Amino acid sequence: MKGFFITGTDTGVGKTVVTSGLLFRLCDGGHKSLAIKPVQTGCIDRSGTLIAEDEAEYARLNAPHFPEGYPDACIKKYKDACSPHRAAAISGEQICIDELTRRTRQMAEAYDAVLVEGAGGVAVPLDDQHTTLELMRRLDLPVIIVADNKLGMINHTLMTIDAIRNRGLEVAGVIVNNTTPPSSEDEALRADNVTTIARHGDVAILADIPYTADPEQRDTVLIKALREAVRLLSTEEPQDTAMDFDKAHLWHPYTSATNPLPTVRASTTRGTTIVLDDGTELIDGMASWWCAIHGYGNPVLEQALRTQCGRMSHVMFGGLTHDPAIDLGRKLVDMTPAGLEHVFLADSGSVSVEVAIKLAMQYMQASGQKERTKLFTVRGGYHGDTCGAMSVCDPDGGMHHLFANLLPKQIFAPRPTCRFDTPYDPAPLNEATDLLKKHSHEIAAIIVEPIVQGAGGMWFYHPEYLAGLRALADEHGVLLILDEIATGFGRTGKMFACDWADITPDIMCVGKALSGGMMTLAATLATAKVARTISADGGVLMHGPTFMGNPLACAVANASLDLLSRSDWQARTADIEQWLSNALAPCRELPDVKDVRTLGAIGVVEMECPVDVPALQEFFIANGIWLRPFGKLIYAMPPYIISKEEVDTIGEVVFEAVRQQIHTRG
Ligand SMILES: *Cc1c(COP(=O)(O)O)cnc(C)c1O
Repeated sequence: MKGFFITGTDTGVGKTVVTSGLLFRLCDGGHKSLAIKPVQTGCIDRSGTLIAEDEAEYARLNAPHFPEGYPDACIKKYKDACSPHRAAAISGEQICIDELTRRTRQMAEAYDAVLVEGAGGVAVPLDDQHTTLELMRRLDLPVIIVADNKLGMINHTLMTIDAIRNRGLEVAGVIVNNTTPPSSEDEALRADNVTTIARHGDVAILADIPYTADPEQRDTVLIKALREAVRLLSTEEPQDTAMDFDKAHLWHPYTSATNPLPTVRASTTRGTTIVLDDGTELIDGMASWWCAIHGYGNPVLEQALRTQCGRMSHVMFGGLTHDPAIDLGRKLVDMTPAGLEHVFLADSGSVSVEVAIKLAMQYMQASGQKERTKLFTVRGGYHGDTCGAMSVCDPDGGMHHLFANLLPKQIFAPRPTCRFDTPYDPAPLNEATDLLKKHSHEIAAIIVEPIVQGAGGMWFYHPEYLAGLRALADEHGVLLILDEIATGFGRTGKMFACDWADITPDIMCVGKALSGGMMTLAATLATAKVARTISADGGVLMHGPTFMGNPLACAVANASLDLLSRSDWQARTADIEQWLSNALAPCRELPDVKDVRTLGAIGVVEMECPVDVPALQEFFIANGIWLRPFGKLIYAMPPYIISKEEVDTIGEVVFEAVRQQIHTRG
């Protein structure tokens, strides 16, 4: 859909006249165009038929361009002359923004360009949740603002510009209208209004329509004034080479620079929806690598970011501190298991793991156990892509052999095969115990992902195994590091996965969902014992990222954690677990399916063989969902706000993909 959204700084600024004139200009320039007024209030009731004045005005001025008559250009018509939400309510209706968006798009299909005219200004409500801005966001057209040149117009126009840009939309320009005759002394004032808006708003003035008293002259004056506007607007669009550039120059995760896996272009997000550049809407089953627990575009998170941005985006954390970091530290100490009291704010999960490893190493040095330099972990783990983190990732997972000489050699116990959902099998812990005993003199810490091994295989193991590791660590004087980056903040149905085993680690990493998927942020927490030991005799933790404690990230994290605490996340994740179980269960009957498992808001279909990721991606997109399989795994980790219907759709599409053998194409 091409064209413009036309909004006013207020009602009664001559928006309809301008829209009508622009339409005339576009049609005159050979563009097949239509002006649409999605919601018209204040319609005239002519024996039961509602007549929309704006539509009538489009038709009047543009009669030469529409010899067959002007098409229906209103979607919703209401009699009462008030805000759409109210006018609809009086008529016993509710405006549905999805319908409004869909029908506007449908109407636009037959035209080269459309002009969509809003009702009043940008903050005019359409229903109890959405204002006109949301409709503008959904239609995603550049916006033309019509402003009446009178007292107060600078303020109204600049505020409108801000509101539009804050919603990520482009302001194409301002059209100034003069609806009242100027007196001689305010000619200069009016001219100054226009230049002031251009300067303070950093915006193009597309036209300045002079006042005419003579009704005969009005159309001519309008159309003449808008000539320049349309010339500015119809400059040839440059050819879009973005995707070619992306393919040729941008590295995407874990793929070739010269022959990359295909990517699709995301354009906007809202709730549980990812909207692609071509308008395709996808139900998001990934929460953007498990981060976006509240979904996208949550107004509380977005406002927290904007508010903090208005105060202070960043200062160095060396020698300076600030409220967003202090608040976040307090929250983390409060909500994590008792005993974790010291907080290191890191800028990504991998970095928080590096910090955890450094803490363990410095702890052993400071406590006179210098020979304890190794990490003990289990196979099938994933802890990040930096060197220390890589050294404890699954050794067969592909990264180790590339960096064999770079990475320290750590000690690996077998994958904990004791399933979460069957009676506890102690054999794996016994093996781990034997191995740890043998090496305990050289081990500084045990590091594992609690309960759920994420990127290493989406495997859920038994809480008793985790409790066993805690006991082992205590018995042998090694530290226990829990990497809760994937599992923290409710994902497994507990606030932290270690709550399943009722244990406190010595060191804990959190990340991913920490900032609700909006900013990169992670944290490493440590017990007082760890912190005090390292700090004895003037010791300091040797780490300090440039963007440590970034105020924007902290502010969003604070809002996200508040939102989580106030929400009914336990019931939500329990529901999602049930929905995922039901939706994925039919896959069990299909060939090639090895296992289907769910825990909290995680649902996994494990195949017998590695899957064809590009083929599945294409199939999923064609069927309206977004999942990103890896290895042998097709899985979902959706936002907590996902609905049962959406989970069902994900289940049905996954079932079809496997039934149709899409996963074996490659
Ligand atoms: C994602 C992840 C990491 C790495 O976090 P990044 O922010 O990608 O560096 C570490 N550990 C676990 C368990 C993870 O899931």
